[in-house]
Amino acid sequence: HLPPFDYEPRPYHGPSADEVLTKRKKYLGPSLFYYYQKPLNIVEGKMQYLFDDTGRRYLDAFAGIVTVSCGHCHPQILNAITEQNKLLQHATTIYLHHAIADFAEALAQKMPGNLKVVYFVNSGSEANELAMMMARLYTGNLGMISLRNAYHGGSSSTIGLTALNTWKYPIPEGEIHHVMNPDPYRGIFGPDAKSYAKDVQDHIDYGTSGRVAGFIAETIQGVGGAVELAPGYLNLVYDIVRKSGGVCIADEVQTGFGRTGSHYWGFETQGVIPDIVTMAKGIGNGLPLGAVVTTPEIASVMNQKIQFNTFGGNPVCSAGGLAVLRVLDQEKRQAHCAEVGSHMLERLRSLMQKHEIIGDVRGRGLMVGVELVTDRKEKTPAKSETAVLFEKLRELGVLVGKGGLHGNVFRIKPPMCFTKDDADFVVDALDYAISKL
Ligand code: PMP
Repeated sequence: HLPPFDYEPRPYHGPSADEVLTKRKKYLGPSLFYYYQKPLNIVEGKMQYLFDDTGRRYLDAFAGIVTVSCGHCHPQILNAITEQNKLLQHATTIYLHHAIADFAEALAQKMPGNLKVVYFVNSGSEANELAMMMARLYTGNLGMISLRNAYHGGSSSTIGLTALNTWKYPIPEGEIHHVMNPDPYRGIFGPDAKSYAKDVQDHIDYGTSGRVAGFIAETIQGVGGAVELAPGYLNLVYDIVRKSGGVCIADEVQTGFGRTGSHYWGFETQGVIPDIVTMAKGIGNGLPLGAVVTTPEIASVMNQKIQFNTFGGNPVCSAGGLAVLRVLDQEKRQAHCAEVGSHMLERLRSLMQKHEIIGDVRGRGLMVGVELVTDRKEKTPAKSETAVLFEKLRELGVLVGKGGLHGNVFRIKPPMCFTKDDADFVVDALDYAISKL
């Protein structure tokens, strides 16, 4: 049984899962992208739990794709957006509104170094598009470097930065170089950051004029399967890229806001300070919000033309985002992620001794990956087994994410209010499901 939770969902009288699915298939395009053979019809959420149309409770270990940072319908955030909704929902940034200015100030105060200028957008893809545009305008160069196995968005220009064929469409992508992934588990150089960094230098030397616009990376790859970059990698690469005239972009869409436990921002785990930082997902606890933070110097190039979007940082999203920053601090969520995350990682690692199918356990804080293989030595992805276990976990009341090129990595990235009991439940459920398999 799931850990006890004192909350009664409202009775639901809406359409059934089958009815919603039929409508979705008819009107929302033939997308392959929904989870479970019989998709879940989610109708309510409270903190780390979701409820389906039958009132059944699920432990949400994926947080709406690493987005619900504070918890579903967190009372303080709900209150902030409800109050703002009653006063003013939208006016656009052609007028002044205090919420956007307060939020930008609070966000800038969270940034190290000279990262003090904030642009608000509506999603992670949009944030990365803007970052790429800034890099190109500022440097006067075109070439962008991203890591194989990266996900930076699905829009027509960010899809070029994304380097996983499962997400690609055959469209022109511009000058983008995908370098070797510094993946300590699957990469051919193991955890040797220096050898992977050499590949970046090689790409610049052999594939460009010698000058590049920028480099972008997540410190722990999210969609790619919770892959933490080899230690020391960013330090080496930032140096190489800057020497070639480029700027360094940290994609903090998944790793930001204390989720890694050890640091507020993922890039801090590698001891670097980027020139541009992009964020989305957890920044709004589910509200459509993204941001780009950069230095005044880089931002100055954006003054040549108008940089504007209708909704970015609208009053409701700004009020919500500001509440998120406050809640995370007040509830000391970074330290909480460190504690619960290391407990879960320790338990998962001991599960490796029992189950051969677990090839790797990795991550930091509440950003955890469990990679399943049929052969530990060959690291053969356990694709069909992962699919079976995934359905089984749902049956047991646990919702996790899937990731990696072969979809054989469970991603455990719950709302940051996830407790040790919740973590134990996920591990026990996985243990039980694998034993049954
Ligand atoms: N960057 C990263 C690291 C992401 O995980 C995602 C979304 N999965 C994006 C960018 C794109 O964000 P969005 O879906 O909000 O456009």
